[in-house]
Amino acid sequence: CGVFGVYRHPDAASLSYYGLHALQHRGEESAGMCVSDGSEFHYHRGMGLVKEVFTKDLMASLSGDISIGHVRYSTSGDSKLTNAQPLVFKYRDGDLAVATNGNIVNAPEIRKELEQSGSIFQTTSDTEVIAHLIARSPKDLVEAAKDAFRRIVGGYAFLIMTNDRLIVASDAHGLRPLTMGKLGDAYIFASETCALETIGAELIRDIEPGEMLVLDSEGLHEDRFEEKKHRKALCAMEYIYFARPDSDMNGANQHSARKRMGSRLAIESFVDADVVTGVPDSSISAAIGYAEQTGIPYELGMIKNKYTGRTFIQPSQELREQGVKMKLSAVRRVVEGKRVVMIDDSIVRGTTSRRIVNMLRDAGATEVHVRITSPPFKNPCFYGIDTPNRDELIASSKSIEEICREINADSLSFLSPEGLISSIEGNHQDAYKGGLCLACFDNDYPTTLDFKDAKAGCG
Ligand code: 5GP
Ligand code: SF4
Ligand code: MG
Repeated sequence: CGVFGVYRHPDAASLSYYGLHALQHRGEESAGMCVSDGSEFHYHRGMGLVKEVFTKDLMASLSGDISIGHVRYSTSGDSKLTNAQPLVFKYRDGDLAVATNGNIVNAPEIRKELEQSGSIFQTTSDTEVIAHLIARSPKDLVEAAKDAFRRIVGGYAFLIMTNDRLIVASDAHGLRPLTMGKLGDAYIFASETCALETIGAELIRDIEPGEMLVLDSEGLHEDRFEEKKHRKALCAMEYIYFARPDSDMNGANQHSARKRMGSRLAIESFVDADVVTGVPDSSISAAIGYAEQTGIPYELGMIKNKYTGRTFIQPSQELREQGVKMKLSAVRRVVEGKRVVMIDDSIVRGTTSRRIVNMLRDAGATEVHVRITSPPFKNPCFYGIDTPNRDELIASSKSIEEICREINADSLSFLSPEGLISSIEGNHQDAYKGGLCLACFDNDYPTTLDFKDAKAGCG
C-alpha cells in the first residue's frame, strides 16, 4: 500500500490527489483520503484507481488543510470497500482517521482480546486495531498512541489524524518506507519520494525506526515510541521490485540500485548471449546494468501494455495468468534467432517466468537465460508485501535446477544476498545486513512471529 499525509496546506486534498496518484503503483485496489478543516472531517474512499475514485466535484467537497490518504492492495479475500482506508472513527469530542502501509503480526490476537472486552470492529482490516487501542486508553492521544505502537508488532508506516493533529510513525525496525518533505511551511509525508517530487515538495528525511512524529498547532515534535534502537530492516523488496525507479530510500536511488544489481548479477553469473532484455517495468534498470557490465547490447525484447494493471495485484491465480498475457508481448524482430538474457526481479510462484520464457521462445529466441535480481524467495512476508503461502513459493520446495527446468529456461541464476546488499549502497551499508530485511530470502525475520494466528499479509 501507499500513504500520503499533509499537515497545514490549504490545498491538502489536491496535493493528496497528486501524491496518491504518484503512489498508484503501490496499490490499485482502492483509494481514499480524509481531510480536516480544523473542526470537521471530509472524506471519501472508493474501489479502483485514484483518478477513478476522485472526481472533480468530489474534490471540491474535500476542504481543509490536514489530510491523510491511502492506496491499497490487499492479500487474499477481503478486497472490499469497508477495508478501504483511511478508516474513520468518532473519538472523544471529535474524529480520528487512520491510514497504514504494512501488516500487524499480532493484530488477530489483540483484536480477539479487544472483542472479548466489548470492542465492536467495523472492518476485517488489521489497521482498525490501532484505533481501538487508542480510543480505549484513558491517556491523552500522544501517550495512547505510543502505548499502542509499543503493543503492536509488525512492519508499518502509520498516519493518524484528529481534527487538529497528525501523528506519523514507523515500526521499530523501519520495515516499511516513509519519508518527510516540506512544501513551503507545510509538512508532507509519503511512502516514497516520487510523491514529494510530483508535488514540488523538498525532501527532508526518511522517518527512523521507532520514531513517532506529532504535528500540532505548535509545529513538529520529534519523538519516539520506543527508546530502544532495534536493527534497522527496511524491506529489500522495495528495492528489488516495489518502489518506483525515481524514488530514493535510505539515500539510495531505486533505479541506480537496480542497475547495480544487474551489473553484479553479470559478475556473479555471466552468460554469453546476443541481447539482454528486462521484464518491464521493474527490471529494465537491472537489464541496463547487466548490459553495461557485459557489453552485450540492451534491447527492448518485450513491451508492456501500460493499460493493464500489475498482474500480481489481481486477486486470483486465474486472473493473474490471464493478466500476464494481456500485459507483455515479445518484440519478435528483436529476439528472433537470438540468444537472450532475460532479467527479472523475482520468482515467486514461477508463473511469470515460465510464461515469459515461452513467449520469447515462441517469438524465435534460440536460447533464453534467466537472471533474477534477488535471491530465491523461500519464505512468506508478514510485513505487508503480498506473498502466497510457503507451499506456493516455488523456491521453498525446488532446487535452482528444478526451477530452471520448470520455467523452461536454458540457465537460471539468482543474485546473492551479499550482492544484493552491496548493490543498494544505502546509508546503512555497514549495519547488520545493510539495514535491510531479507527474511523472505533467508528466514531471518526482524520481529518475533510467535503469536497465535499470526498471518502473512498486508493491511
Ligand atoms: P511469479 O509469477 O513468480 O509468482 O511472480 C513473480 C513476478 O511477480 C515478478 O515478475 C515480480 O515482478 C512480480 N510481482 C508483483 N508483485 C509482487 C510482489 O508483491 N511480490 C513479489 N515477490 N513479486 C511481485
Ligand atoms: Fe520485505 Fe521480504 Fe522482509 Fe517482507 S520478508 S518485509 S517482502 S524483505
Ligand atoms: Mg515483474
